[in-house]
Amino acid sequence: MSDYILSKDYFVKVIEDLITLVDQRKEYYTELDSQIGDGDHGINLEIGFREVNKNLDEWKKLNVRDFYNNVGKALLDKVGGSSGPLYGSFFMKFGLPIKSKGPDEGATFEEFIEMMDKGVAIIQKRGKSTKGEKTMLDTFIPALETLRSEYEAGTPGKEAMEKAVEAGKEGLEFTRNIVATKGRAMRLGERAIGHLDPGAASAAEFLEVFYKDMP
Ligand code: ADP
Ligand code: MG
Repeated sequence: MSDYILSKDYFVKVIEDLITLVDQRKEYYTELDSQIGDGDHGINLEIGFREVNKNLDEWKKLNVRDFYNNVGKALLDKVGGSSGPLYGSFFMKFGLPIKSKGPDEGATFEEFIEMMDKGVAIIQKRGKSTKGEKTMLDTFIPALETLRSEYEAGTPGKEAMEKAVEAGKEGLEFTRNIVATKGRAMRLGERAIGHLDPGAASAAEFLEVFYKDMP
């Protein structure tokens, strides 16, 4: 067991910073989606995270598990596109591996890895998708694999997360070279080549927030 603990404040700050990120980057996500989808990825995320922002002060009083459950439910309920239910499910599952239930308690780094694992697993299940299909999973899966392998090899938590973010960005870049076998870009066939997947792009920047906020 490591003594690298991620505090309750960390988990709250991540969501606050994701709200800011989405507000700053929504046009970029939408621009990517207008190239190979229907041009609403940034709009969808904005709708979801605006709803989260409305309720944040209330939810902050809850423990991390319930806090993330509410964040996820808001995304799931409010967002029409496929990214809403997928990110929504991610956040709903994210809090579950935390064992401590106190409103001020955080998580160990081992728990954090399990949280990421549960989140990524539900995206795969809900999306019936995996790596190599030009989706957000091209970011999430390599990032998670790297996070786990680096940490198990002895890399300190924050550094392991930094490596995970790099692996996620490589996965994002890789989406440029492949056709989509899931999501709207599927219809484009070869014409999707040369374009980044919008969900993989937002996922890479989301992971960067998880990294940067780490103490
Ligand atoms: P929509 O495609 O319904 O317009 P968004 O534009 O908000 O929703 O989100 C699109 C992103 O969702 C894609 O770029 C892709 O990363 C992700 N996505 C779509 N379908 C799947 C799936 N089956 N599995 C994983 N991710 C998916
Ligand atoms: Mg779209």
